[in-house]
Amino acid sequence: MDNKNTTIIGAGLVGSLLSIYLAKRGYKIDLFERRPDMRTANVSAGKSINLALSDRGWKGLEGVGIADEIKKIAIPMYGRSIHFKDGTTAFQPYGKDNQAIYSVSRAEINMKLMDLAEEQENVKIHFNERCTSVDRSKMEAHFENTETHSHTKVKSDLLFGADGAFAASRLNMQLSSDRFEYNQHYISAGYKELIIPPGPNGEFMIEKNALHIWPRGSFMMIALPNMDGNFTCTLFFPFEGEKSFASITTREQVKKFFEEEFPDAVPLMPTLVDDYMNNPTSSLVTVKCFPWTFDDKIALIGDAAHAIVPFYGQGMNCGFEDCVVLNNLIDKHKEDWPQILTEYQNLRKPDADAIADLAVMNFVEMRDKTADPKFLLQKKIEAKFSSAHPDKWIPLYSMVTYSPHIRYSTALKEGQKQEAIMQKIMAMPDIDKNWDSKEVEQAMLSLL
Ligand SMILES: Cc1cc2nc3c(=O)[nH]c(=O)nc-3n(C[C@H](O)[C@H](O)[C@H](O)COP(=O)(O)OP(=O)(O)OC[C@H]3O[C@@H](n4cnc5c(N)ncnc54)[C@H](O)[C@@H]3O)c2cc1C
Repeated sequence: MDNKNTTIIGAGLVGSLLSIYLAKRGYKIDLFERRPDMRTANVSAGKSINLALSDRGWKGLEGVGIADEIKKIAIPMYGRSIHFKDGTTAFQPYGKDNQAIYSVSRAEINMKLMDLAEEQENVKIHFNERCTSVDRSKMEAHFENTETHSHTKVKSDLLFGADGAFAASRLNMQLSSDRFEYNQHYISAGYKELIIPPGPNGEFMIEKNALHIWPRGSFMMIALPNMDGNFTCTLFFPFEGEKSFASITTREQVKKFFEEEFPDAVPLMPTLVDDYMNNPTSSLVTVKCFPWTFDDKIALIGDAAHAIVPFYGQGMNCGFEDCVVLNNLIDKHKEDWPQILTEYQNLRKPDADAIADLAVMNFVEMRDKTADPKFLLQKKIEAKFSSAHPDKWIPLYSMVTYSPHIRYSTALKEGQKQEAIMQKIMAMPDIDKNWDSKEVEQAMLSLL
């Protein structure tokens, strides 16, 4: 089958990477992006300014030989730096042997991916082209130019919807399919971005190589470093309630609230009140849908197929992993697209559902449990056991973040088993005193 002409809707993170994978195989790619070219126009990404990139994402970048390029714009974070209300901090390493996740600017990685895509002679990116609909019977995508308002129809052999959480491509598939399953869920918290600028000499004002968390029970603030010395802070906060976006609305309330809750951060945030008042409040959604592929020629990928909340730092990583899986299936099925697409959705759907659920669960862990001594003891016991028996126990966070060979769905199942064991271990008498004893180790071995 000659399926060489390919339309990709959305030149975000996943669409751009996918174009490189397919171009390297000789496909002719037309990539359509609603926004102007952010490399020349001053476009604000409007969303979280930086993202955590981990091993699944790196694997996706390595697959087309561009990991080294991206590493140049990435800052390693070796653990969580927890900021308590009394101003003290504690460092919790993410893994062992200096394992790290990496902070990358969303705009920079997107621009770099576009550059690398355009280095392929068979990729053309069309900017200011908003997909308005897809005519499946004709394999035709329809676009409206956002500047000239002219309309174009583009025919192709293959079509990918990589247009993000609120994908027009997905909506079209939903409207034109019988029995399309669709579920969207907004959590009760939203987020707002704030900033810790660099010091007078451009220096980082808090530890550069850490992901900072101010856990406060029902809400939290996090901060990730940027190459220029800034930290992007994100306040995850309920929309409603006693302490919420609805209740903290005046400049005085903002100042008082931050001084009470984040006293060590306030002196580092000179534009805090203005930022809080002016920056948008955004919502957080999980989208699950099925099928992801249509007519043996159309597929959804990245957030268009599976938008998840950001608390495991896996949305982009999962989308990059989609590209890896698809690429492996092209090898396996020798360009037989009906087979490739069937196996792609069958493999990826359970994994995307698993990371979606894990991400929601991790919100509770980050905002609440990272400051809970009992939880920290549990993590210490798990880490010790894991280093003594690495073949028997990989902590859930490491399975998700550092083990791209383990599927998300397997990690979720293993994590549930581990949690059941740890509940029993934590109920052992005097566990806080005996946590590193042989008895505890034996108990864990016998429960496995
Ligand atoms: C607050 C927050 C923090 C996050 N943190 C992390 C993190 O630490 N680690 C991580 O891995 N992930 C994180 N994510 C998730 C990550 O941002 C997404 O998973 C990732 O951006 C998905 O990439 P994508 O290419 O599928 O979608 P997007 O990046 O959303 O790209 C979609 C593209 O399609 C374009 N588009 C949309 N509609 C149309 C249309 N009709 N026609 C043409 N083009 C269109 C858009 O302009 C955009 O360029 C976070 C998300 C949020 C909200």
